[in-house]
Amino acid sequence: MSLTFPRVLHAPGLLYRSLTCTNHTGYLLFLPRTRRFCAITISSVSKSSEELMVVVGGGAAGIYGAIRAKTLAPNLKVVVVEKGKALSKVKISGGGRCNVTNGHCVDNMILAEHYPRGHKELRGSFFKMHSPMDTMTWFSDHGVELKTEDDGRVFPVSNSSSSVIDCLLSEAKSRGVILLTGKVVTSASSIARGKFTVRVEKRTADIVEYVEAEYLLIASGSSRQGYSLAAQLGHTIVEPVPSLFTFKIDDFQLAELSGVTFTKAKAKLKLDTMQKNVPPLTQVGPMLVTHWGLSGPVILRLSAWGARDLSISNYKGILEVDFAPDLHAEDVKSVLNQHKNRFPKQKLLSSWPSEFGLAKRFWKYIIDRKGLSGDILWSSISRGSLTSVAFLLKHCTFNVIGKGQFKDEFVTAGGVPLSEIYLNTMESRIQSNLFFAGEVLNVDGVTGGFNFQNAWSGGYIAGTSVGTLANGSNPRYREEDVA
Ligand SMILES: Cc1cc2nc3c(=O)[nH]c(=O)nc-3n(C[C@H](O)[C@H](O)[C@H](O)COP(=O)(O)OP(=O)(O)OC[C@H]3O[C@@H](n4cnc5c(N)ncnc54)[C@H](O)[C@@H]3O)c2cc1C
Repeated sequence: MSLTFPRVLHAPGLLYRSLTCTNHTGYLLFLPRTRRFCAITISSVSKSSEELMVVVGGGAAGIYGAIRAKTLAPNLKVVVVEKGKALSKVKISGGGRCNVTNGHCVDNMILAEHYPRGHKELRGSFFKMHSPMDTMTWFSDHGVELKTEDDGRVFPVSNSSSSVIDCLLSEAKSRGVILLTGKVVTSASSIARGKFTVRVEKRTADIVEYVEAEYLLIASGSSRQGYSLAAQLGHTIVEPVPSLFTFKIDDFQLAELSGVTFTKAKAKLKLDTMQKNVPPLTQVGPMLVTHWGLSGPVILRLSAWGARDLSISNYKGILEVDFAPDLHAEDVKSVLNQHKNRFPKQKLLSSWPSEFGLAKRFWKYIIDRKGLSGDILWSSISRGSLTSVAFLLKHCTFNVIGKGQFKDEFVTAGGVPLSEIYLNTMESRIQSNLFFAGEVLNVDGVTGGFNFQNAWSGGYIAGTSVGTLANGSNPRYREEDVA
């Protein structure tokens, strides 16, 4: 079989022999003499007459994008290269339940506000092209029944992320998407006619393969390799830093309160490194005491909005918490005074105003911090002591000394800047036919299903663009993205 155009190039520094496979044309494989031919290679699943889309990463964005491209262009070869197991983050997400998206943000402007990185750029075409409602419709149409919880988080009715994984993998399979697991894309370069040479390795079996692809979608999540591929293709990378983490607090007495929850607290983060003109980060919501500090939605949101400043300050700062955010300071004082008048014969530790909704363990913590004995009667507490308790409830400060040890829901801030991407096609502004989707971009959301929504929307738009191009049409209508 004659080869008209070698789709595979060279790899300097290694000893190669060429293999021409009988079941395909147009692809040249150069493999080290000692290396084996692997059972499924990209070459063995493509023909030279077919255009090829290589997707780097079999996560939410990559698989969703691959399905969309293959749905629009059935004749396009779509190969997803995944170094580990496909959809492994979907598996562990939402405590094994997978918080697929958020059902409370119908307005795209409000939706965009849930993205500390991306809140300006995502107000435009991005969610218009594939919104949370579109995601929910897609999954329902493909047999995954969903439910929306009171706080807006959307889960499969099965309460199992396996429903989402099974659906995506079976849809990908039935559309003819080829999934190569256990293989890593280690480099990519652009060659003539807007094509790419992609180096794929199976390290455990010592196999290297070079393929030529017409379209490349990088959906590599927060992997360093993915950032490196983007850089090789001319992109800059905003330094990746963690987002969505709990705070380690320097207070052994607080640690004893592990498990205590607050339905509504207002927390303000103050960092030395924060520029003077940046208002302190403030969030309101549920909070939780853990073995090592503080967690819960309010803390995770602060960690997300403050991700970059926290990284600069080495995760050290002051957290000021208001435990009675619905009451004015003077009202807190009057509530305490009223309690004193109503229950003068009760001990300080055994009775406290129910208006604050505080657990006994936390009330003890507050009176301990003020140096008050729990055995004294309310009648014997001075006005000054009550004023200082009221002040502590409104302005309780904690020393943040680091990030929490456990990853509850962890994403990465940073990656390929959105300014280098057309958000209505997800195509690179630097390199034609190169697309990005998901966490590899400098986009991250707060908790509640927003991070997967970024992956679904980006994957869908990228898949739509590639599918449209492969069908011979041009999706590159450059609508101005709202900034
Ligand atoms: C514990 C946990 C729970 C979470 N829960 C939720 C939740 O409930 N809801 C929510 O919205 N978000 C959640 N998130 C965040 C969410 O998982 C991510 O935002 C989302 O997975 C990003 O999708 P992605 O496809 O961009 O990246 P990923 O899911 O990270 O997928 C990228 C894939 O690319 C592969 N890869 C990388 N580089 C290469 C390479 N060079 N070659 C081949 N393969 C490569 C990786 O192995 C990976 O499988 C959670 C995150 C964590 C860690």
